[in-house]
Amino acid sequence: MRQVRVRFAPSPTGYLHVGNARTALFNWLFARQKRGAFILRVEDTDVERSRQEYYLRLMDDLRWLGLDWDEGPDIGGDYGPYRQSERLEIYRLYTQQLLEAGRAYYCFCSPEELEQARREALAAGRMPIYSGKCRHLSPEEAAARVARGEKAAVRLKTPDKGEVIFNDLVHGELHFQLEVIGDPILVRSNGLPAYNYAVVIDDHLMEITHVIRGEDHISNTPRQILTYQALGWEPPQFAHLSMVMGEDNTRLSKRHGATSVDQFAQEGILPEALFNYLAFLGWSPPEGQEVLSREELVELFNLSRVSRSAAIFDYQKLYWLNRQHLKRLTPGEKVTRVLPFLQKAGFLPEKLTREHHLWLEKAVEALIEGVNKLNELPEKFNLFFEFDLSKMEESARRILQAESARTVLEALAEELANRSAVSFEEFSDIAREVRQKTGVKGKELFHPIRVALTGQTSGLELDKFIPLIEEGARLTWRQPLLSARERIVRTLQWLTQ
Ligand code: GLU
Repeated sequence: MRQVRVRFAPSPTGYLHVGNARTALFNWLFARQKRGAFILRVEDTDVERSRQEYYLRLMDDLRWLGLDWDEGPDIGGDYGPYRQSERLEIYRLYTQQLLEAGRAYYCFCSPEELEQARREALAAGRMPIYSGKCRHLSPEEAAARVARGEKAAVRLKTPDKGEVIFNDLVHGELHFQLEVIGDPILVRSNGLPAYNYAVVIDDHLMEITHVIRGEDHISNTPRQILTYQALGWEPPQFAHLSMVMGEDNTRLSKRHGATSVDQFAQEGILPEALFNYLAFLGWSPPEGQEVLSREELVELFNLSRVSRSAAIFDYQKLYWLNRQHLKRLTPGEKVTRVLPFLQKAGFLPEKLTREHHLWLEKAVEALIEGVNKLNELPEKFNLFFEFDLSKMEESARRILQAESARTVLEALAEELANRSAVSFEEFSDIAREVRQKTGVKGKELFHPIRVALTGQTSGLELDKFIPLIEEGARLTWRQPLLSARERIVRTLQWLTQ
């Protein structure tokens, strides 16, 4: 059997949309499972819209997701070049061949003329297909006009009647009437190949066995098959993936939220979580498994389980998967992933020591519960780095203003005065002593202590919070991290203002 060769063929005209990333991912999963080759080919013949910046970003985003390619514009390969803009000579060769064989012809119709014909057809309720006007020019006359410098496109000469039939691996057998196809343009009058033409030449010369791409290309496929036939080539197999939609059943767009791989990365979705989620857009494993690694997905993936119906992008499901993948990381790995987000928040010192790392591991562990995206985490660190009683909520303020609160806090300050960092156990012993000394107990004892330490009435449990501030206060940060004692003292000062 032939080696499986698939490709992802993006046009570098924007950031990598999750719909396209899903196409790349299905190709990659298929290639890896079949021990085939995954090829990256960049379709950059639209000179006006293609940009180098997008081209570079595209590769970064694919790498970030964990997709690697066996051949591509950056690493080369036996079937290159892998950028269409570098393959123009190849297309020209085949155009010449098609013209000489009478399978293609020059078309001199101006854009205005074509546009008018299109409008008239639409107004008359007809399909706007090319009339075939230039089809009947003699090849000699056409060649002479081209030689005189007249601008011409090249069109494929297609049969007038009949149908194109192909077996789509997702949709089954599909039929297209030739009457509604017309003679597609192969080369534009500016000399650049049309997508439908370049894609055929490239897929054939690169020996692509399966074309897996978005359903928006389904109506292009018969045109491409006709081109294969004109060139005497065998078409590859096709699999068209349903579109990715928002929950309101319209194409996923900015209105729904983040849509590009880069945006999800910036929000703090883990690449393995986005990978896992994208695999589920239009596919599901046989036994309903949900949290899967890349390796597990390669094992399980199967084109025959790809669904025909639209894939709905469910942000909540993605966040849930992100939380599951976060749980799978060790505390050290979590810090590594979170660090770029914390760096922006501005409290980390320039040089992080091992002690900082260990502290961050515990702090992240304590705060990460319920976090959907890593960009939610820096704000949670305010609990340690911000101690501003003037911003306290009314309910917290009232707790501190109770008569007994001051008694408790004064006694606590006294006990803490002679100690350096205390553990939570030591702190509990101290609280017990304060209770004995002051006679204040229960809520009246613990609520003011919590508010005086955190500035809040609820939140992180004190058995987690106290060791973190006690250990954190001994390290250097860009912003001060106050110890328990310092917090109590500040609160007392604030009370006596
Ligand atoms: N450049 C096309 C796109 O980005 C590729 C389509 C195809 O895979 O054939 O939609």
